[in-house]
Amino acid sequence: LDPSDPKPIRKLKESLINRIAAGEIIQRPANALKELIENSLDAGATAIKTTVKDGGMKLLQIQDNGCGIKKADLPILAQRFTTSKISAYSDLSSLRTYGFRGEALASISHVANLTVTTKTRNDSCAWKASYVDGELVAPKAGANADPKPFAGVDGTTITVENLFYNTPIRLSALRGSSEEYARILDVIQKYSIHNALVSFVCKKVGSSTPDISTPADSSTLQAIRSLYGQSIGKSLLHIDVENEPNAEHSWKAEVYFSNANYHAKRTTFLLFINHRLVESNRIKRALEAVYTGVLPKGASPFFYVSLELDPRSVDVNVHPTKREVHFIDEDDITIRIADNMQTKLAKAGERTFEYQSL
Ligand code: ADP
Ligand code: MG
Repeated sequence: LDPSDPKPIRKLKESLINRIAAGEIIQRPANALKELIENSLDAGATAIKTTVKDGGMKLLQIQDNGCGIKKADLPILAQRFTTSKISAYSDLSSLRTYGFRGEALASISHVANLTVTTKTRNDSCAWKASYVDGELVAPKAGANADPKPFAGVDGTTITVENLFYNTPIRLSALRGSSEEYARILDVIQKYSIHNALVSFVCKKVGSSTPDISTPADSSTLQAIRSLYGQSIGKSLLHIDVENEPNAEHSWKAEVYFSNANYHAKRTTFLLFINHRLVESNRIKRALEAVYTGVLPKGASPFFYVSLELDPRSVDVNVHPTKREVHFIDEDDITIRIADNMQTKLAKAGERTFEYQSL
């Protein structure tokens, strides 16, 4: 063999391509859960129940009461790039759903055993289907792969079992099940605050008391109180901010943030842009700076920001996990929100001062 002789270039096998791609989207149980919650919300669910075993590595099950999936769609459901949400590139500029890539269920089926039980309002029974590597498979030896009729209620239950059974390196990179479970609870907590009208329940298999249980038709404030504690509930301020009247791009933000009386060890920051849970260290730092001189050293605030931008000024198509979202006028918007928070904090401060001096 001549080492200077280049090796031939070959096309990767489809299943290998898909398993590699799946690894970019599903890094840990909490990522899979986020995709599944978003699907349930896209399906119009008002109740979403999560059941977890072993930090989601053994079992992650999401039951919703959404619109369900038509039986005829089940054969292609878990194939890559199959979606009911967009049909043209231009649809991205008016996107009203979380999903659009048609990759989540496919990815999950490439790194776990996926089972879907679903019933639409018009179906007389539910249908149950199992998937591996994007395709329908027989649930057990001797059976065929076709969806089976099943007694079930309206909505969809997605069951993910043995996550990363075929990617041992990914599995070994995970933390222990309690750490993975904590991440799962964090995702559900954040989505339940942003979707206060939807009821969320999360429990471990075999546990009789749920770790999260929020009622439907709650308010944002009630949701924050019940999930992050009464002490934060009593110290919350609320503002609505929007673009300057003559701005080129319109936007609005709703912000709940703690006042000077709230001292946490670490900052809690929830950021939703066009209803999508995202992360932004730049925005986090800019809003933390508002508390300089307000909070004693070592104390940190809580803030929840829901920002709605003209869909034409956000590029959601930046990364498969869609976590880092970029948008036009990011700095100006952040400064305007920070200024408004500062003003409100100052006013709230004067008020407490007046009360105290009475
Ligand atoms: P995407 O959300 O990007 O369309 P997914 O792989 O997450 O891709 O889902 C593929 C399709 O399966 C969705 O477009 C939707 O039609 C259907 N689907 C997935 N989850 C649910 C659910 N919980 N309820 C109803 N339909 C669902
Ligand atoms: Mg999706």
